[in-house]
Amino acid sequence: MTPLIFAATCDLAGKVRGKAFPVSDLSRRLERGVGWTPTNVQINCFDGIADSPFGALGDLLLVPDEGTKVDLEFATRTERFILGDIVTLDGQPWDFCTRSLLRSALNRLKEVAGVKLLAAFEHEFQIKSKSGLAGEGFGRSGFEHQRDLCESIIAQISAAGLKPDSIMKEYGPEQYEVVIGPELGIRAADAAVMVREITRSTARFLNEEATFTPLRDPNSVGNGVHIHMSFLDLEGNPKTYDAAGDCGMSEITSAFSAGILKYLDSIIAFTAPSVISYLRLTPHRWSAAYNNLGFQDREASLRICPTTVKDPLEKERQFNIEYRAADASACPHLALAAIVHAGVQGIEDGLTAPKPSEEDLSLLSADELGNRGFIRLPETLEDALERMRTNPILSKWFPDNFLPVYLSHKTSEISHLANMDDGDRCELYETTY
Ligand code: GLU
Ligand code: MG
Repeated sequence: MTPLIFAATCDLAGKVRGKAFPVSDLSRRLERGVGWTPTNVQINCFDGIADSPFGALGDLLLVPDEGTKVDLEFATRTERFILGDIVTLDGQPWDFCTRSLLRSALNRLKEVAGVKLLAAFEHEFQIKSKSGLAGEGFGRSGFEHQRDLCESIIAQISAAGLKPDSIMKEYGPEQYEVVIGPELGIRAADAAVMVREITRSTARFLNEEATFTPLRDPNSVGNGVHIHMSFLDLEGNPKTYDAAGDCGMSEITSAFSAGILKYLDSIIAFTAPSVISYLRLTPHRWSAAYNNLGFQDREASLRICPTTVKDPLEKERQFNIEYRAADASACPHLALAAIVHAGVQGIEDGLTAPKPSEEDLSLLSADELGNRGFIRLPETLEDALERMRTNPILSKWFPDNFLPVYLSHKTSEISHLANMDDGDRCELYETTY
């Protein structure tokens, strides 16, 4: 057998797609890449192909990035993959390459605010086989049931050069959560892709199947992706915290947060991009239903996280904000790019974060919400896409063709589910995420 490595992009559908070649060719492929087809970007998560401006035309290259190589060594097999950028034949970033879109958002953050982003993606997922255990939210028996899987995932995360933080039996049936430490810039989104693929592969090797679908059952618990963010200046000093700021937020954090909250309804179709994402984003699911800031409140779409250390410098480093309106049907690079652009817009516009909400917003009338500056987030993917389409600011953040292509991609996904009920939709999504 010839050992192969799979070179991949995480695309608009949040799917990891690419091509394999002999590992022995890697150094040559790091220079030359592998051929890629523009219309691939319109393959939706159900294998439909949305209207594509490229048709059968054009050629691109998927060029692997050496720093993203992952070798998953299992007892009887090794799985290797590497992430990369999609470029045009003359080596320019392609307008629909999600890594390049994130890179340009991060460059904008650096130019406007002089800071770099540290981010960590927390993932919830479920194992498809029934454990037969009940009442195991955060339970030890629930954990022991999948101890081998958990230990193996953590070992693979370390071997991939990432920083495992913790892993637990989450609240939902057969639900687990894996948490890693923060990474700088693009690597944070690369790490999110790696964690998903590591978890899927490790489960498969142990004859299990892991799903990151946003919701398995309309009446049960969702699988969220929570994105923790903080800032470093160009010398590496923390810039997120200011003891004198509201809830400890520095000026940058406050403006960045305000930008996210202001544009949240228009970017949410990037961070919660499936039809069933909107069944999860409802009140009382500990996800996100309003554009509110929370202080230690898990029903807020943006949460100021508590610090747990006493040392003042450590505290400054640990302080972070958490975006909770995301799930794993989103490409991490695209989700983070949209969040960063919204945040930077807040900094450019000199916004200030609102006061954190401290009550159950679902009890307020639409008028009361409006008077207090809150909106109910879109309740369907159609509505979320409409807000994206009609917000004139968003087209300034992305290349010219990008939004129409994304909208048509997602419209084809919606059409695929027409005439299904929510239960059937959930069933279908868990076959693909
Ligand atoms: N499962 C919840 C979600 O869908 C999150 C629960 C938690 O706070 O960890 O986001
Ligand atoms: Mg959780």
